[in-house]
Amino acid sequence: MGVGMSDVIDFVCQGQVGVLTIDNQPVNAASHRVRSGIVNAIRNADADAGIKAVVLIGAGKTFISGADIREFNQSPKQPYLREVVLELMSASKPWISAIHGAALGGGLEIALGCHYRVALSDASLGFPEVNLGLMPGAGGTVLLPRCVAMKDAIQMITTGKPVMARDALAKGILSAVTEDSLAEFAIEFASQKAGEPLPVPLSRRSVIEPLTRDEADRQLAALRHKSHGQQSPVVALETILATPGLGTEEAIKLERDHFEQLKASEQSRALRCLFFAERNTGKLSELSGIQPLKVEKIGVIGGGTMGSGIAATCLLNGYAIILIETSEAATQLARQRVWEILSDSKKRGLISSSKFHALTSAFQSSVDYQAISDADLVIEAVYEDLKVKQEVFRRLDESMRPDAVLASNTSYLDVNEIAKYVVDSSRVIGLHFFSPAHIMRLVEVIKTETVAPQVLTTGIRLARSLSKIPVVSGVCDGFIGNRIMSAYRREADYLIVEGASPDQVDAAMRDFGFPIGIFQMQDLAGLDIAWAMRKRQSKTRAPDIGYAGIADRLCELGRFGRKTGSGWYNYEGGIPELDETVNSIIADERDARLIVPQSFSADEIMKRILNAMQGEARRVLDEGIARCAEDIDVVMANGYGFPRWKGGPMFMQNR
Ligand code: NAD
Repeated sequence: MGVGMSDVIDFVCQGQVGVLTIDNQPVNAASHRVRSGIVNAIRNADADAGIKAVVLIGAGKTFISGADIREFNQSPKQPYLREVVLELMSASKPWISAIHGAALGGGLEIALGCHYRVALSDASLGFPEVNLGLMPGAGGTVLLPRCVAMKDAIQMITTGKPVMARDALAKGILSAVTEDSLAEFAIEFASQKAGEPLPVPLSRRSVIEPLTRDEADRQLAALRHKSHGQQSPVVALETILATPGLGTEEAIKLERDHFEQLKASEQSRALRCLFFAERNTGKLSELSGIQPLKVEKIGVIGGGTMGSGIAATCLLNGYAIILIETSEAATQLARQRVWEILSDSKKRGLISSSKFHALTSAFQSSVDYQAISDADLVIEAVYEDLKVKQEVFRRLDESMRPDAVLASNTSYLDVNEIAKYVVDSSRVIGLHFFSPAHIMRLVEVIKTETVAPQVLTTGIRLARSLSKIPVVSGVCDGFIGNRIMSAYRREADYLIVEGASPDQVDAAMRDFGFPIGIFQMQDLAGLDIAWAMRKRQSKTRAPDIGYAGIADRLCELGRFGRKTGSGWYNYEGGIPELDETVNSIIADERDARLIVPQSFSADEIMKRILNAMQGEARRVLDEGIARCAEDIDVVMANGYGFPRWKGGPMFMQNR
C-alpha cells in the first residue's frame, strides 16, 4: 500500500508504520465510506508483512468527532460502526489512534477499538450521545467501563460531558499525551509498540471497579430524579450497570437494542430537531454572500451584571475590550467582576495562568467615551431606561468611528427608538445576551427597521465567534423570548389568583422539566426589570381584567428577589419560603376580584402555562418577529430552560 484508498481515507507507510488518515471534513464523521475504508485498511494491514503497526489519525481540525447524524434517518449500511470497532480489536497488528480536536461518540468508540490511544494535550474525548436523546451504540457502554473505573464511565456517558486529554490520561483512556507534533509522536509510539505482544483488547477485559448492587441502585434512583423524565441518561446508566453480568457480545447486543429504542423515541427526535435548528439560526437568505465587518476591538458600556459578563466572554474568545463606566469606583467594580469570571475559567482548567494574564492585559477601562474612539463595535449594557440609553447612543455616535457597529443589550426596549439618536441608524442593532452572559449560549440579534445587512451579519457572526447561538428577532416589547416569557408569567399570575400557590406552579414546571419554576426564576433574575417594563406599558396596556398586580406590590415593598433577601419567596432562613406577606397579598388580590380559590393539579397548571407560551409564540411568528418556529424553540430551550428533550413549545404543538 502507499496510495490513497478513497476520497475520505488515505493510507501511507512511514517505514514499518502505516498511517491511515480520515479526511471527511469538516468533522471527519464516521460515515459509511469512512467505516468501509477503515475495515479495508485493517484487512490490508493484516495481510501486509511490511506493516508492523498502524496509526489512525484525522485530517484538518479533528479526529473522528462522531457518527454521521445525517445517516440516522436512512437505513444503516454495513459495515456498521460496531463491526468496525470489533474488527479493530481483532486486528493482528497494533492500532494506535492519534487524537487531536475531539474524539466524540462513534469517534471515541473507534479509538477504544484501537489497542492504544495517544492525544494532543488540548484534545477532548467524550460520549455526547445523551444530548441527542441517544447513548453510545457501537460498544461505548461496554468498552469504556473496561478502560476506566466504572464510576468515571458512568459520569462521562450519562452527562455527555467530554474530558480533556490530561484527564483522559489520568483516567486510563489514553496511553500518552503530547504538546505538539501529534503525527510524529504517534508514529514513534507505534514503532515502539510494533515489537511488543498485542495487549488484550478491551472486549476481553473485565469491568474496572464495578459498583455494588446498593451503590448501583442509589445512582439509578438519583439519576432518575435528576433527569425529570429525560430517558437517555437513565437508559444509558441501566445499560452500563448491566454490562458486568454479561459477556461482551451479549452486552453489545443489549446496548444495540437500547440504542435503537432511544433512536426511535420522540425525545431523540426532539433533540435532533433542536440540534439542527441551533446550527441553522442566523442563516437568513437575504444575508447570503454578505461579508461581516472586521471586529477586533469591542467597547462595552456599563460593567454591571451583564456588561462584565459580556466583556469576559469577548476576552475569552480573543477580542480586546475597553469598558466604560460612570466613575472610577464603578470601573474598579467592573474590573473585579471580569477578573472573577476569568479566574473561575482558570480554576476550571479552561485557561492557563499565562492565558489569564494575557486576557487581563487585553482589558482596559475608562470613564471617558473617547477611549472607545477606535473600537470596531460597542455593546451597551447600562440601566434599562430608554432615556438613559438614548443619551448613551448620542454620545457613542459622537465619539466612535462612523463605520463602527453600535449594539444595545436591552431586554425589552424599542431599539428603533434608540437608533434614532444615531445619525446613521443603519449601524445600530440589538445584541440581547442572557444572564450569566459568559455561560448562556443564546443571543437574540435584534433587527431594527433601518439596520444595514452587513451590520446584521456582523452581529450574527460576532455571536457565533463567541460560541453562542444567534437568533434574529424583530423589534417588539421583549423580542422573541422575553415577550413569550411575559405571556406565561402573566398566566402563572392568573393561576395564583385563581387558587394555585407560587410553589405549586414552580413544582409543576420543574416536574415538566424546567430547571426552576417561573417564580423562582423571577427571584433569581430580579423583579425590578420586568416591573419597570410593566410601568412603562401601563399607559398603553389594553384594559385587561386579568392583570394581577401581585409582583408590582412585591416590588413596591422592595422585594426584588434573592438580591434583596426576598421576592416571591423569603430567603432569610436559608430555605426559600412563602411568607405571610406574599400569602396576604395573594389573598387580597383574590378578595378584590371576588374569587373563590380552586385547586389545580400539576397537569392543569402546566397545560395553562404551555397554552399561554404557545399562543404568544404563534403571534410572534405571525407578526414576523421570529423567522421560523424552530428559532422560537431554540430561544426557549437555550434562554428559558424549556426541557430540550421536549423539543420546545412549537415542536410540541406541531406533533
Ligand atoms: P446593572 O445595574 O447590573 O449594570 C448597569 C451598569 O451600567 C452599572 O454598573 C452602571 O454604573 C452602568 N451605567 C449606567 N449608566 C451608564 C453610562 N451612562 N455610561 C456607562 N455606564 C453606565 O444592570 P444589568 O443587569 O447589567 O443590565 C444592563 C442591561 O442589560 C439592561 O438593559 C438590562 O435590561 C439588560 N439585560 C439584563 C439581564 C439580566 O438578567 N440582568 C439580562 C439580559 C439583558
